[in-house]
This record gives sequence, structure tokens and C-alpha cells, in this order.
Amino acid sequence: MSQHRLYMGAPSPSGHFGDFGGRFVPEALMPACLELEVAFVDAWSDPEFVQEYRSVLHDFGGRPTPITYLARLSERIGVEVFAKREDLAHTGSHKINNVIGQTLLTRRMGKHRVIAETGAGQHGVATATAAARLGLECTVYMGELDTQRQALNVFRMELLGSKVVPVTSGSRTLKDAVNEAMREWVTCVEDTHYCLGSVMGPHPFPWMVREFQSIIGHEASEQLSERGVGVPDLVVACVGGGSNAAGVFAGFANTSARLVGVEAAGGAAVSNGSPGVLHGMKSMLIQDEHGQIEEAHSISAGLDYPGIGPEHSYLAAEGRAQYVGIGDEDVLDALQLLSQLEGIIPALESAHAVAWIVQEAGRDIPRGSTVLLNLSGRGDKDVAQVREILRGRS
Ligand SMILES: *Cc1c(COP(=O)(O)O)cnc(C)c1O
Repeated sequence: MSQHRLYMGAPSPSGHFGDFGGRFVPEALMPACLELEVAFVDAWSDPEFVQEYRSVLHDFGGRPTPITYLARLSERIGVEVFAKREDLAHTGSHKINNVIGQTLLTRRMGKHRVIAETGAGQHGVATATAAARLGLECTVYMGELDTQRQALNVFRMELLGSKVVPVTSGSRTLKDAVNEAMREWVTCVEDTHYCLGSVMGPHPFPWMVREFQSIIGHEASEQLSERGVGVPDLVVACVGGGSNAAGVFAGFANTSARLVGVEAAGGAAVSNGSPGVLHGMKSMLIQDEHGQIEEAHSISAGLDYPGIGPEHSYLAAEGRAQYVGIGDEDVLDALQLLSQLEGIIPALESAHAVAWIVQEAGRDIPRGSTVLLNLSGRGDKDVAQVREILRGRS
């Protein structure tokens, strides 16, 4: 019977995907979460809102993004790889899909300001971009350490008219920025929406963000049909919080396609983690035996999150999707391989998915399989870092 189950529908009324998800927030945040849920359900069932979301993504966001057959890579590894080109979306990744949805919703709720957390700065830049476009005020919380490591993204956000607040608590990185943004949201919920960057946090965020990202999977499914490829054997995406993976999986969850999420080996929440509660959700987390959250380590700041969205924990528990880890060295090799064989410099995050495909072609991925690779973003943001690492080697 299991093949007749429907996956990636709405969560339960309490926001659960199986045992995972929920809404673990202080009492003061409950009204904001409930208001958001009602507003999202109302907007997403309103054809006018959906049309507006699609047309902003079309006229401004660079959608639809193409699918590119990776001929030389395919020939090299013996499996047929098609890339969904989120690297060509505005601001260079899939993040624009989510922030356009949430900023339009902000305006619809009658609020004039957004706040956001950011790690490497990609979600912060995307939010600042959407806020500028729609005329919203924007404040971005960013770990102080990350503001130093990603100084250019801080400048981009400021250039776009946003304010960046360095967060000095804890490890001064992404998880502290989320804590701070949630704390701040309590004090300003009347006029401010918290634009969360991935399929995580309290209900309805994991569901809402997946819905805004599902345009990736629905487009890809249509594009592959039009080309006569049909349903691919495999859909592969990198996983930080899990939004680009959830988005592309949504187009294929109820088909025969095998779904694989690739985490950074140093932050593999599904393989190395255990269930726990963080940032308002129950999910798989990297934590010690006392429930203390451990630092995630990855060459790519975008995968440096010690948890994973609750729906992914559910898909893993159900066996509908599989999650694997890839180490930094393989990622660097894959980034160079894709650049040299295909003329596409992928983001370090996306290179995790490439690396797993290259590693498993002819092994876990049978020869001749068709694979849809979600190329979540472009590598321009990473070239300085990659150059330093490669220089240090020679
Ligand atoms: C932020 C980011 C990711 C990780 O976030 P998810 O929510 O897991 O998609 C992956 N790739 C790129 C290019 C990113 O910017």
C-alpha cells in the first residue's frame, strides 16, 4: 500500500508531519504564528494572490528557470543528468521564490516591515531585494562572525536599503541569528513579518516555505515531460534547512522517482542527528546527549545548520526520501568538474549534490538512469573562498 500514500500534502492542523514539526514557541509568539497561518491559507487559496506571486517571479525573479541537459558530465559518468537552473534565478539562487511569496504576504497582511535571519547572507540579500522591490522596510539579523566572513553581502543588503544587525550571542553564527530574529519578532508583530529563510521553524513556516518553493518541482516536472524525459529515476538536491530540496521534491513526491537529499557530512542531521526541539520545531538535530546543539561544520556556509526541516525528518522516517552526507574535498572536486565540463560554476551548496551523483554513478545510481539535479545556486559568491583553498593546496 505504501506506494499509494500521498506525500508532501498539508501538515496536520497542529503543524505536524508525522512525529515532526509542531509549534514550540513562547506564548507571546503564538498569536503571530496563528495570524500567519490564517493569512497564508487564505492567500494561497486565492487565485489572485497566486497569480501575483507567479507574475512577480516571472517579471522580476527570472522564472521559469531552464532545465539544462549536462551532456559532457552525463557522458563522463554514464548517467543522464538534467540540471534545474535555480542558479539563473534573480539573486543567484532559489531563495527568491520564498522571499517573493513571504513579502507579498506581508503586504497582504497590512504590515510594512520584514525582519530576517541570515547565515552566509544569501537569504538576507534575497529578502532585502524583495523588500526593496515591494517598498517594505527590512532589518536582517546576522551572526557577528558571519558579518565579518561575509562582509560583501552585508554591503549588498545595505545597498538595497536594509539594516543589518550583528548578533553577538552564542557562537555568533546562523543559529544565534535565528534566535535573535525570533526574540525581536515578539516585540514588533503588529507591523512586522518574520521572513524565515528555509523549511524550518514553527508551523506554518515549514509548510509555507515549501509551498513557495514547490514552483521548482512543478516547473521541472512539466519541463521534463515536454522534452519527453518524463519522470526521472532520481531527484537530487543539497540540504541545509531543506528548502530547495523540498521545493524540487514537491514536484515528484507522488511519482516513482527516488528522492535524495545531500547534506554536508559535518552537519548531517538525518544520518548523525537525533530528534529534538530547536527554533520552534521538532526535527532531527545535531546535538550531544544532553540536548545541547552542536556546531555544524561545512565548507559551504549555506549548509552550516545543525538541523533540517521537519518534513525532511518525516520523509526520511517514512523511507520516502534518503539523506546522505558528502565531505568538503569531494565538493571542491565536483565544483571544478561541473565548471570545466559544463561551463556552470555551482554554489558550494549545490556542488554537494553534484558530488554525490558523481560518486554514486554506476554504483548506487545504475548506469543509464535519468537524474534531475537541482542546481540551487551559482558559485560567484564562493569563488574567492575556493581560490584561497585551492591556492593553499598547490
Ligand atoms: C541557502 C542555500 C542553500 C541551503 O538552503 P536550503 O534551505 O537547504 O535550500 C542551498 N543552496 C544555495 C545556493 C543556497 O543559497
